[in-house]
Amino acid sequence: MRAMKYVVFVPDGCADVSLPELGDRTPLEAARMPRLAALAAKADVGRAAVIPPGLAPGSDVGNMSILGFDPERYHTGRAPIEAAAMGVELEPHEVAYRCNLVTLSDDDEPNMVDFAAGHPTNEQSHAIVAALDAALGAGRDGVRFHPGVEYRHLCVVPSTWTDAECTPPHDLTGQPAVFPRGASAPRVNALMDASRAVVRDAARSVGSSATQIWLWGQGVKPALPSFAATFGVQGRMSSAVDLVQGLGVLTGIEVVDVPGATAGFDNDYGAQAQACIRSLVDRDLFVLHIEATDEAGHLGRSDIKVDALERWDTEVIGPVVDALDAGGEPYRILLMPDHATPCNTKTHSADPVPFLLYDSMRAGAGGRYTEPATAGCVPVPGHSLMARLVER
Ligand SMILES: [Zn+2]
Repeated sequence: MRAMKYVVFVPDGCADVSLPELGDRTPLEAARMPRLAALAAKADVGRAAVIPPGLAPGSDVGNMSILGFDPERYHTGRAPIEAAAMGVELEPHEVAYRCNLVTLSDDDEPNMVDFAAGHPTNEQSHAIVAALDAALGAGRDGVRFHPGVEYRHLCVVPSTWTDAECTPPHDLTGQPAVFPRGASAPRVNALMDASRAVVRDAARSVGSSATQIWLWGQGVKPALPSFAATFGVQGRMSSAVDLVQGLGVLTGIEVVDVPGATAGFDNDYGAQAQACIRSLVDRDLFVLHIEATDEAGHLGRSDIKVDALERWDTEVIGPVVDALDAGGEPYRILLMPDHATPCNTKTHSADPVPFLLYDSMRAGAGGRYTEPATAGCVPVPGHSLMARLVER
């Protein structure tokens, strides 16, 4: 029997709502996507609930669903997924916190001036994180700091520090800082307080506007099973986003480094498509994730979102489908975003998203891959679609 090939396309946050500037159409309706339309006409098209009730609509939760693992069962927080992407091993007695460098105002009741501390360079921020680790970490009381990218770092502490209700700093921009609450909050707050003197000193010497750390998104290492053992298929993935890469590391999906793949609008779509085509020669499944549609949503720029979708069509879907057709082996494609990022709210929503499941050997009911066209479909659990993709 010839091997089946499987491709998962993830345009991050591409689902949206009808927008007046697009003539009351969604970006998926407004974008010229003939290759996607041709697939949809022969596919099963429906709606998927990627964000279970009670979980925050984020790429960590949504992509866990897409990879076939129920976030209600497996999601423990976003920081441990980022830790996996950074190559930081968590022991069972440890919990990882996301550690932002932030800028707070110098008031008794401070405001969150900048959740990204003016986007320091890695050179600047790594000097600050090294100073933090020397003064407050390095394993003392089980606390360690790990440098990440720009303003995004990691703090590992004992798992007895888990029980804190923390607010993501980007939700506080321009507003009073809401400090952690809950049983473990005194410890978390004490570390954030102690960081002020260290961060201010180190930031001054490297010319950064960071004033302290902000801890959030904590969790213990999730007990995710291996993707290959669960679904019987060996996979690779390409993504420029650490959360998605971390899910690959935790489930044993090999993360391919694609030069030119970025989380911004300068992403090299063609390079990711070629990486997918190359990988399918010796591995049967490939996950191709691109962030640009989500970034456009956060900026409220439907024009950029439409452009990113059209690049998906001409530079990714077209070439990959052509290569699969030329290869002659049967294949299936699952296309869906990890959540919606509507341009009118500029933030993620937990609404169900459209999905498309195409099988080169079997015509589906057919449809159009847009939000209005799928609005009447009863949402299926997002994590149920991977099993449908790879079923024999
Ligand atoms: Zn986003």
